[in-house]
Amino acid sequence: MNMYGKIREKTDQHIMQTYNRLPIVLVEGKGAKVWDVDGKEYLDFLSGLGVDSVGHCHPEVVAAIQDQAAKLLHVSNLYYTEPQANLAELLMELSPFGQVFFANSGAEANEAAIKLARYWGKDQGRFRIITAWHSFHGRTLATITATGQPKYHKGFEPMMPGFTYVPFGDLVELEKNLSDDVCAIMLEAIQGEGGVNVSPPDYLQEVRRLCDDTGILLIMDEVQSGLGRTGKWFAFEHFDIIPDICTLAKALGGGLPIGAMLAKEDVALLEPGTHASTFGGNPVACAAAIAVISIMQKEGLLEKAKENGGYLMERLRKVGQTHSVIQEVRGKGLMVGVEFSQEVGPLVSYFQRQGVLVGTAGPRVLRFLPPLIISRREIDKVIDILLEWLTQAE
Ligand SMILES: *Cc1c(COP(=O)(O)O)cnc(C)c1O
Repeated sequence: MNMYGKIREKTDQHIMQTYNRLPIVLVEGKGAKVWDVDGKEYLDFLSGLGVDSVGHCHPEVVAAIQDQAAKLLHVSNLYYTEPQANLAELLMELSPFGQVFFANSGAEANEAAIKLARYWGKDQGRFRIITAWHSFHGRTLATITATGQPKYHKGFEPMMPGFTYVPFGDLVELEKNLSDDVCAIMLEAIQGEGGVNVSPPDYLQEVRRLCDDTGILLIMDEVQSGLGRTGKWFAFEHFDIIPDICTLAKALGGGLPIGAMLAKEDVALLEPGTHASTFGGNPVACAAAIAVISIMQKEGLLEKAKENGGYLMERLRKVGQTHSVIQEVRGKGLMVGVEFSQEVGPLVSYFQRQGVLVGTAGPRVLRFLPPLIISRREIDKVIDILLEWLTQAE
């Protein structure tokens, strides 16, 4: 059996079958490219689901990790460390928030946000959190409950009490559900997993106003959309609002696991003993995150995401004009979804055979989350492959 076969067999035999994996074993990455075990090259238009935003194995991220790993790998949060302090300061500089809690993943950052919102509301008897249908907030019990997609609840009932779902973008339904026990509304500015659904114009501003009027919190889940992906540090900036709490994860560590829950100073009420994470704010993950932010600033990646994302969507929309299977192109920056009138599984496989990795967001939505360093030439290549497939399919 060849190396590919061996790795695949071991994986399928010993690892719980929670993923539908594509038949590729990846061994190396550099910039926007990855290579499989047989040496085949792929252009990565999914970047580990929005994680590898500065590209694979960026030399400065690798160096930051190597330096920190040789110095101090881990100490508990009973002590202070420099990388944690510096990363927190950086995050406060580029955001409107006052304090941060460090976790290890998106789900954990959202758990922290949910706990903070309940803690904040406890004296008023407020605990309920309103979230949107088609949202995605993670896979822990509280965050699948927050996730407004019944397919993620199935088999794990009963769900956590205290969550209510409303249609995304529907202000009337939201207002109707604002009972006295609500402590927060939790939304993605652009729903990722749920289909790359962009907030309707004015919606988030109206939600912000509702929160202010009723004195409740607005939590924005920026785990996928945050940190430059949409051409701004936070997707909520496109909508001219500031939430009370915001979560980050995917792109933050440049590939190392880290999550962050940021909050306005007057909301950040968690005190010693109320929340903790052994690995949260690990020095190596923090050092990687500092490097990621510095690369984004130095290389102007937010501007690149905006420009090249605009170019990608413009080209896709043009393709859509002559190919009716494409129903809609939507997104912001380099967070892009293409809705088809048919299932996109075969197209994802075609892209893979042609040496491009892409994702999906539901059965009929093709999802592009390329690294922010992607070039126009690489975008053109992806469009050419899409056109080839469309021409063959007709
Ligand atoms: C991926 C994602 C999560 C979950 O993050 P994990 O690191 O997988 O726990 C939460 N919210 C959004 C919006 C996501 O895209």
